[in-house]
Amino acid sequence: MSIIYEKVALIGLGLIASSMGHAMKRAGVAGEIIGYARSKETRDIALEIGFCDRVEDSAAKAVFDADLVVLCVPVGAMADVALEIAPNLKSGATVSDVGSVKEAVIAAIEPILPDNVSFIPAHPLAGTEQSGPRSGFAELFDNRWCILTPVGAPHVQEVSQLQSYWRALGANVETMDPAHHDLVLAVTSHVPHLIAYTMVGVADDLGRVTDEEVVQYSAAGFRDFTRIAASDPTMWRDVFLNNKEATLEILGRFTEELFDLQRAIRRGDGVQLHDYFTRTRAIRRGILDAGQDMDVPNFGRNVPHDD
Ligand code: NAP
Repeated sequence: MSIIYEKVALIGLGLIASSMGHAMKRAGVAGEIIGYARSKETRDIALEIGFCDRVEDSAAKAVFDADLVVLCVPVGAMADVALEIAPNLKSGATVSDVGSVKEAVIAAIEPILPDNVSFIPAHPLAGTEQSGPRSGFAELFDNRWCILTPVGAPHVQEVSQLQSYWRALGANVETMDPAHHDLVLAVTSHVPHLIAYTMVGVADDLGRVTDEEVVQYSAAGFRDFTRIAASDPTMWRDVFLNNKEATLEILGRFTEELFDLQRAIRRGDGVQLHDYFTRTRAIRRGILDAGQDMDVPNFGRNVPHDD
């Protein structure tokens, strides 16, 4: 593969940035990868692992002369970083991000950036419950979606270049309106995370009552909630604070459906429950048909599950 950007600056060097660094090296699409993280420890780890060619001790220095700058910090930290880098951006550079929320990030960053750069927000729909520079790997984006939400001036050529870049990192690329992105993600990611956090919190209270039985028998479905609920607290706090409207909209619908199912259980309405679960099973089939998960029982774990 040939070089797509001569110099790429990654600001924030956690799971997503380190995976991007590994995937860029695999694809050979960046001439030089420059990194910045706020702690020296993270910067040293990035150099030791080698997913950056060089690190700088400030974001402003890292973006100097970069052709592509990608903000890979928590959503709530994006504006401060944008303020710091704005005066040092190269004219004609593309600035992007990987934030899990788009409207709020755009509102925070766009007014700060100079007119002579192209701002093209992005969100790779790929992640794990782990964080930090050691958790990244080159295959993270393979066959996953990366959504671009271009705003303002068309920047046709720059959008097409960024699309080629994400494809080279293994992703499928889609463009979307930022508000629509936030609603789709509220359904597919944000509210499911909140439900997992809640269920694990409830079980934790119960666990104290039942003397560790919740942990002992967790293979009966619960442990899949615990994996999601182990996700980074800072990242997820920022997601809910910044995707407030869409999250509350979907949560409202969720609680209505939950009450409906609660009533069906109380009434002993087996037909309603069976119909509902038949409909939801078809959604899983759709996900498998789209190649977004493996069609193996128990998520491919080789231990039998006992529910
Ligand atoms: P991460 O592993 O926790 O890494 C975050 C990085 O940002 C670290 O290098 C950290 O620096 C730096 N950072 C944190 N707070 C900062 C602040 N206030 N100012 C400056 N730098 C700060 O996070 P991640 O999972 O890669 O997530 C990064 C972004 O990707 C977030 O916006 C998230 O919404 C988005 N995203 C995440 C996932 C996912 O599943 N994890 C998926 C798609 C998109 P230190 O190491 O020095 O503390």
